[in-house]
Amino acid sequence: MNNEGAVLHTDYYSVGDPVEDHKAPSGPIDERWDSRKFNARLVNPSNRRKLSVIIVGTGLAGSSAAATLGEAGYQVISFCYQDSPRRAHSIAAQGGINAAKNYRNDGDSIYRLFYDTVKGGDYRSRESNVYRLAQVSGQIIDQCVAQGIPFAREYGGLLDNRSFGGVQVSRTFYARGQTGQQLLLGAYQALQRQVAAGTVQVHARHEMLDVIVIEGKARGIVVRDMTTGVIETHFADAVVLATGGYGNAYFLSTNAMGCNVTATWRAHRKGALFANPCFTQIHPTCIPVSGEYQSKLTLMSESLRNDGRIWVPREGGDDRNPRDIPAADRDYYLERIYPAYGNLVPRDVASRAAKNVCDEGRGVGPARLGVYLDFADAIGRLGRGDVEEKYGNLFDMYQQITGENPYQVPMRIYPAVHYTMGGLWVDYDLQSTIPGLFVIGEANFSDHGANRLGASALMQGLADGYFVLPSTINDYLASGPFEKVDESHPAAQEAAAAVRTRVDALLSVNGDRTVDSFHKELGTILWDHCGMERTKEGLTKALRMVRELREEFWRNVTVTGENQELNQTLERAGRVADFFELGELMCIDALHRDESCGSHFRAESRTEEGEALRDDDRFAYVAASEFFGSSGKSVGHGVAG
Ligand SMILES: Cc1cc2nc3c(=O)[nH]c(=O)nc-3n(C[C@H](O)[C@H](O)[C@H](O)COP(=O)(O)OP(=O)(O)OC[C@H]3O[C@@H](n4cnc5c(N)ncnc54)[C@H](O)[C@@H]3O)c2cc1C
Repeated sequence: MNNEGAVLHTDYYSVGDPVEDHKAPSGPIDERWDSRKFNARLVNPSNRRKLSVIIVGTGLAGSSAAATLGEAGYQVISFCYQDSPRRAHSIAAQGGINAAKNYRNDGDSIYRLFYDTVKGGDYRSRESNVYRLAQVSGQIIDQCVAQGIPFAREYGGLLDNRSFGGVQVSRTFYARGQTGQQLLLGAYQALQRQVAAGTVQVHARHEMLDVIVIEGKARGIVVRDMTTGVIETHFADAVVLATGGYGNAYFLSTNAMGCNVTATWRAHRKGALFANPCFTQIHPTCIPVSGEYQSKLTLMSESLRNDGRIWVPREGGDDRNPRDIPAADRDYYLERIYPAYGNLVPRDVASRAAKNVCDEGRGVGPARLGVYLDFADAIGRLGRGDVEEKYGNLFDMYQQITGENPYQVPMRIYPAVHYTMGGLWVDYDLQSTIPGLFVIGEANFSDHGANRLGASALMQGLADGYFVLPSTINDYLASGPFEKVDESHPAAQEAAAAVRTRVDALLSVNGDRTVDSFHKELGTILWDHCGMERTKEGLTKALRMVRELREEFWRNVTVTGENQELNQTLERAGRVADFFELGELMCIDALHRDESCGSHFRAESRTEEGEALRDDDRFAYVAASEFFGSSGKSVGHGVAG
């Protein structure tokens, strides 16, 4: 651990005591997970029936955790804000899930998956966790096959694999371009089986708005019933947040419209440290923004980079039809600059390269903010049928959105916000700094460092939910039985009252500006100054702008409708209010991290060739922040990586 060199921007940030991960086992990296599992305390089956766990979130992480803990015999209470658990954002995942099975016999191994992930994360991931992730990756595939997930197969009957960015082997398992959907249906089936067995209760359309902390431990949550507006409290012996990422802070992103930070941010306000919030992944292959009124961006899966070739015209201002531009006048810039990986460089590298060629004036499309992703060679080599077989639904989606036929003209793509590597800090057991509060899936910070490799989020979500949490949470629950708590406890009453007051405050501003207009302006500030390229000057300016806008939000927002009804404006207002506070922390974190690494590119920290320049001596640590409260000044803690 080293936070000696952390830069002190005394107006925004100060360095607190380092936080140690007491659960992390020592010894050879390949023995740590076995050692932790062996040394963690167990709960015998008859005692499990007496213990309860709240799980917020029903994406891949939350559904798999709820199903597994239910099967183990715990009483599980599951929450999500959608009308059904199977509408969680995980359903949108397209390209695939990684596992070190080495079916292709191309040199893959647990160690190589570990190595690629740590390198891809630009050496900012926690290595013990990543090794564990690689170790359980094979079990995930076995479990999913047993559930009947229809993974693609090759001619011999084995599961097929393709490649994703940042690796030189093929280890990505997929179900056409709908891998997340198929995996979530598997986890949902497993969850529903436990619902039928009586071990899991599901509360859909309930939004968690606070954590209840009693005597220092997470013992429950406050939720709003989104159809009636009733504020409820629910209690358990432990609470798990599986609430996904916060990319929607930027307004425009590839995330589902509902994705938000509220659950983790509310926990942060209650004392959970928030780690590396500035690490946001900008995905290189998205459909470019097409107009002012757009509220969503669409991903074109990274799997397309297996066969599509990325290029721009060699000269700026070349407006010829792309099919009329001869090879000599094209610049396949990724193949040129990074010959070892070609079009499959990691996402951060591909995104910055696209930005650079557009900044040089060589972008394509109406606003010149686009590059070509061209399948002509692949169609020539494999035939249209094969390309359709692999990517058909993605091509259809592209055509429906742009009106262009990608079998005939190259797709146009541009980077967009996609995934957040930051999240609540957790120890090796996936427990936050609030005892009894566990955080899994995209909501935690732990596995992907400064840049997540493609197809590794589904792997992490299912690793956490099916295999890691079910082992580690036992150690905490073994301290039970816990004292019974209910809604009469002062901490529960205080938390519920605070939620009611906040809902009333949002409804009573009665200003002139819509929630979305605030969200859009916040997103533009973050994209411009805390997006693909960051500078000290820009971040300082952004902090000021976010604070001013936040102040205006609470003075001038208009939230129509009532609390006692389905009110999406009210839901969004609460989420945007939290995005404002998170946006501040993202800028503070980006300002303090005076180096470039992975997705975090500080213009001041680059090599002579313009590439990201890491500063391992000063910044090879996890930056975990305390809530800045009314002082506006965050206290950060260096934590062993
Ligand atoms: C378009 C797209 C394609 C992707 N493709 C891939 C891919 O091919 N491979 C890959 O590895 N990764 C992919 N990813 C990333 C991956 O899909 C996500 O990181 C992953 O699915 C997150 O899973 P999760 O279970 O952590 O959270 P989510 O699936 O986001 O689930 C969050 C859950 O939390 C609930 N929730 C949130 N807040 C609250 C609250 N306050 N109260 C109650 N409930 C709450 C929601 O209702 C939901 O059930 C893709 C992402 C996008 C945007």
